[in-house]
Amino acid sequence: MENMNEIRLFCPATIANVACGFDVLGVCLDTVGDEMLIRKSPIKGIRITKITGANLPLETTKNVAGVAAQSLLDSLECPYGFEIEIYKKIKAGSGIGSSAASAAGAVFGINHLLGSPYTQTQLIAFAMQGEALASGAPHADNVAPALMGGFTLVRSYTPLDVLSLPSPEHLFATVIHPQIEVKTADARAVLKQQIPLAKAIQQWGNLGGLVSGLYEKDYDLIARSLEDVIVEPIRSVLIPGFKEVKEAALKQGALGSGISGSGPSIFALSKGKEQAIAVGEAMQRVYTPMGVAFDIHISRINSEGIKIL
Ligand code: ADP
Repeated sequence: MENMNEIRLFCPATIANVACGFDVLGVCLDTVGDEMLIRKSPIKGIRITKITGANLPLETTKNVAGVAAQSLLDSLECPYGFEIEIYKKIKAGSGIGSSAASAAGAVFGINHLLGSPYTQTQLIAFAMQGEALASGAPHADNVAPALMGGFTLVRSYTPLDVLSLPSPEHLFATVIHPQIEVKTADARAVLKQQIPLAKAIQQWGNLGGLVSGLYEKDYDLIARSLEDVIVEPIRSVLIPGFKEVKEAALKQGALGSGISGSGPSIFALSKGKEQAIAVGEAMQRVYTPMGVAFDIHISRINSEGIKIL
């Protein structure tokens, strides 16, 4: 693998804000993701030379892949540069980490082509610089699971401390993406800055329970813990049909369901693939009569993260 000049990657979609893990817990998907090609170039710096599947800027400073890649390059002396091609499959603004896939892919690929000078935590920090472009603030809850795979928990930003949690092998995700726009600014504006102590207690009880459930492979505990009493009640009003979709998923036997990222995608977690498919069908039966178009993704948990193709 020495003298490797180019690398082709699968850059997975991710679910952030997993129920009680608002802003800290993310999980990596397997069946939906972008492809990226990164190659060394004699011209220094970063150039995005091709984007298919989405109308996104090629300018390095306006694309999260470019910003993330540049922040990595700025940190070392490199006698050459890189060209990036992005084959977009994850729709931007869907709530399943479209920008994060590009930011994470760019830094992962370049690090690999440089002979892996950086640790995973350092790569998360560079990818976060890209994310800052998409959302105004650097956050790790999508780039961390994209880079590390599985479930990740951002324990702290200063210093950056991201934990990798185990994912029980029968755990599957269903994601339904209704084709409606939820502006990230609105999703943020509705949040309250203060929370009642009683709600905080419920939330950290659930988050602890969920983490334990993942370690113990205790699906009932996971199901009891997949509950967000703080953000979901407020944000879900921005997503038409949210309550009905969630109810349909739970009635069909999902372990839990909630808003993916800042929406409008809604996720459910289930035990077993058949169950996850049935849950997806139940979710569809809510949106179809409402005349809402949607995409559906069924995926096992991707424990590897980004893959070299
Ligand atoms: P999602 O809701 O899927 O997480 P994001 O919040 O990740 O979507 O970000 C989408 C925003 O980032 C859009 O405004 C988009 O124009 C911008 N953006 C810039 N570069 C990229 C890129 N390479 N991939 C996706 N989105 C990008």
